[in-house]
Amino acid sequence: MELLQRLTARQVDILRLLARRPASPKGMALKELAAGLGIRPPSVLFHLTSLERLGLVERYRGKSQLTAAGTATYLEYQRHHRVAEALFAQVGLPPGEVCRAAREIDLVLAHRTVEQLCRAERHPRTCPHGDPIPPCRAERPARR
Ligand SMILES: [Zn+2]
Ligand SMILES: [Zn+2]
Repeated sequence: MELLQRLTARQVDILRLLARRPASPKGMALKELAAGLGIRPPSVLFHLTSLERLGLVERYRGKSQLTAAGTATYLEYQRHHRVAEALFAQVGLPPGEVCRAAREIDLVLAHRTVEQLCRAERHPRTCPHGDPIPPCRAERPARR
């Protein structure tokens, strides 16, 4: 099972909040995260602990931030989400509906399936909302 397939939508919400301030040296406090998500701090802590075990988040003196793996994973998530949004837009869902629909499938799709969808969609550069889609592996320069 791929890493994204093991994450929950709530965990991705936390990665999203943390990704918004990559430059912050201190990270986010539990209270800030709880307010951002509209859930109680003990629930946030529960999700953070799982993310920490997966190596995606690190906590120091009560503040949380993304690890390099966390940043890469969130980027991969954005790719899954936005390729799924582009797919739903292509089959005719209205722009206001594609985000919700994409959230129903973005975590369960394997990377390989996302690559296949991306190819079928002729490698869209942006999602229907105009947000950039991180390039797929086929488009990335080969590593040496
Ligand atoms: Zn969306
Ligand atoms: Zn979008």
